[in-house]
Amino acid sequence: MKHLFLLLSFLSIACTAQKSKAVSDAPTNTSEKSQTVDNQEKEILLTLPNGTKISGLEKSEELWASELSDNAFYVLREKGTERAFTGRYWDYKEKGIYACSACGMPLFDSETKYKSGTGWPSYYQPIEDEYIREDTDYDLGYGRTEVMCNRCGGHLGHVFKDGPKPTGLRYCINSISLQFIEEAKQEEYIINYK
Ligand SMILES: [Zn+2]
Repeated sequence: MKHLFLLLSFLSIACTAQKSKAVSDAPTNTSEKSQTVDNQEKEILLTLPNGTKISGLEKSEELWASELSDNAFYVLREKGTERAFTGRYWDYKEKGIYACSACGMPLFDSETKYKSGTGWPSYYQPIEDEYIREDTDYDLGYGRTEVMCNRCGGHLGHVFKDGPKPTGLRYCINSISLQFIEEAKQEEYIINYK
C-alpha cells in the first residue's frame, strides 16, 4: 500500500511537471508564430515625393497574370531576366522618372541613370531607398541582392557594388519592369499617382 501511495505521488508529480512544461512552452511557440505572421503581413506605408502616403499593394498571382503581359509577368512575378540589349530603356537617355510598370510607383530618376555597358538600364540610386525592397537570391549559385518594388513586390533586377560615385552601387534593372514618365509630365504624374 505504501508503495502504491509512493507510485501515485510520483505519477502525480510527473504529470504536474509535464503539464507545467507544456504551459511554459506555449508562450514561446505563440510568440514565434505571431512574429512570423507579423513579418509576412507587415504593412507598408510609403511617402511619395509630394508628401502623399500610399500603402502597399497586394494582389493574387492570378490577378497579376491577367493584368500583365506574359513577358512582364515572367520578369515581375517570376523573377525572370530579359536578355541584355533587348529592353526598351538600356540605351534610353530622355529626362524624366522611371516608375514600376506593375503598380506605377516612382522608382528611379534619369539623373541617376548611367551607361554601365551591361545592356540593362542602370542607376546608382533609387528616388528613395524605402521605395526598393531587397532580398538575397542564389539562382546563379552565389548570393546576389535582388531588388523589388517595395509597393507591389514586383521583381526589378539586382543591385551590385560596382557602380559609380557617389553611392558605388549599380541598380541593374529590367526595362520591362519600368515605365518612363517624361520630365514635363513627372510632376503631374506624382501628384495624381495613388
Ligand atoms: Zn510596383
